Parts: sequence; C-alpha cells; structure tokens
Amino acid sequence: MIFDAHTHLNFEKYTDGERQALAAEIESSELGYIIDVADCVSSAEQALRDAEDYEWCYAAVGIHPDHASVFTDADIEEIRRLAAHPKAVAIGEIGLDYYYGTDDRDEQQDLFRKQIRLANELRMPIMIHSRDANQLTMDILTEEGAFSPERKTWFAGRPAPGSMSPGAFRNDMKMADEYSEGGLRLVPDARVQMHCYSGSPEMAEEYVKLGATISLGGPVTFKNGKKAAEVVRRIPIEFLLSETDAPYMAPEPLRGRPNKPHYVEHVVRRMAMIKGISYEEASRVLTENGKRFFGIV
Ligand SMILES: [Zn+2]
Repeated sequence: MIFDAHTHLNFEKYTDGERQALAAEIESSELGYIIDVADCVSSAEQALRDAEDYEWCYAAVGIHPDHASVFTDADIEEIRRLAAHPKAVAIGEIGLDYYYGTDDRDEQQDLFRKQIRLANELRMPIMIHSRDANQLTMDILTEEGAFSPERKTWFAGRPAPGSMSPGAFRNDMKMADEYSEGGLRLVPDARVQMHCYSGSPEMAEEYVKLGATISLGGPVTFKNGKKAAEVVRRIPIEFLLSETDAPYMAPEPLRGRPNKPHYVEHVVRRMAMIKGISYEEASRVLTENGKRFFGIV
C-alpha cells in the first residue's frame, strides 16, 4: 500500500466523468490513501464531496496564496466551517508563492498568517506551499506559533530517527528532544507538512528539528532533481511523506503527461532507492507516516 499526501482530485478542470474514471484507476492500483488538497473555498467543497464519495480520500481545506488578492475574511470563515467535516484532516494548501505572486506579497502574508492562526485554533495539521520564499515561510510559521511547544502537545509524538526502518538510517542526524514512551523512541510533532519541499537540505534539517515533516513528489525522480534527492538522503525516513501534486509534476518516466495520484509509486520507488531499502519497506513506512500525520485510523 502507498500514500499520496498531496494531490488534487478536486481539480476544477476535471468533469465528473473524468474524476470518476480517475477514482476507478486509483481503486485498481496499490494506492491506499490520498489527501485531496483545496486551493480555495469551492475546491474545498469539491474535496469534501470526494472524501464523502471515496473511503480512501481525505481532504485538506484552505486558500492557496494564488488567491491572496481576492480572498475575504468571509472565505476564511467558510474554511473554518468546512474544516469541521470529519474527513477534513488539515488546513492547506496555504503559504507563499513569490514565483508567480509578485504584486500581492503583503496580501499573501496576511492570508497565510490568518490560516496558520485558524489551524492553531482548530488544532489541525498544516500543509504548506512555499515557492521562492523559503526563509520568510519559516519565519512566519515560527512567528505564528506553528512550531510552538504548546502546539506540539496537541499531537502524539512521531518515531525518532532510525526507529521505523533502521536500514534507512544512514546519517548522523540526532534529535535533541527525543524521549521514550511505552518502549518507543519518539520526538515531538508540530504536524506541519512542507509540501513539494524545494529548499536546501540544510533548511530541511532545520525544519524537522522545529517539528515539521518534509513531503516530496515528482522532482525526486527528475534527472535535474539532485537537490530533492539530497533532501531524501539527509532526512530520516521517519520525517518524510510521499506525494504527487497531481495533476501537476508527473514523475519520471511519465514526466510531461498529466500526473495521477497512483503515480506516487514512482516517487516511493526513487525514495527507496536513495535510502537503500526495498520498495515494500519504503511503502510501509511512508504509509504509516501519512496515516499518523493526518490522524487516519
Ligand atoms: Zn498542490
């Protein structure tokens, strides 16, 4: 079983027929769960309809920075209402996009901060989109309490490096805040997912020390994806998630085509290869990570 921790089954350009056909493909694959991610209120509504239609589908509800210049506080209230749905498992995707967004940067920050506060109020996981704004994303998350000691008390700890798959632990990363409970080695979890992480390996280490989880998709499979591959090498598998961002960013060998959630298989295969473990082992750990992160039982 494999896990897609960030995908857009609710994609607005799919017809109902296309969405159903895609769901049928997913059902005949080894994909066990998807997180269907919203970028605005109407896509959050569709993601929740998908989650009601399909047992394996869960929703993240939130407003993407692309919508920063048009959002209103009423939209945030609408996200708050939708987040109460039993299959809404995260606030996302939220964050900063300074690649596309050049003239609405203040609005982006305002929208981002308001939604971190909402996630804190609701005590929910946070799913981050960050492009060309690496340091500012980290600063705002920190300022708004996404890594606060209090937030970490709301969620169960996550396994410490090396405890889920000792064969995959090939680095020196030690966590200062490791503790043990019921015979398990754990570290605190702030439940912040860095979706399609594109920063440096050093910053990825800094993020996991703060309590975040690094999520990677198609770029780890690309020939020019050396930085993403280095992140997989450096970060203990306990702190990684697998994702597609479908219909965008299809992995090799399907690059250039519309992406699909079950293509996460290629991401997991590449992560297994980099970690020097079997595909089955990587699938198991990454699925457990996804279920724990989003509270799926
Ligand atoms: Zn996305």
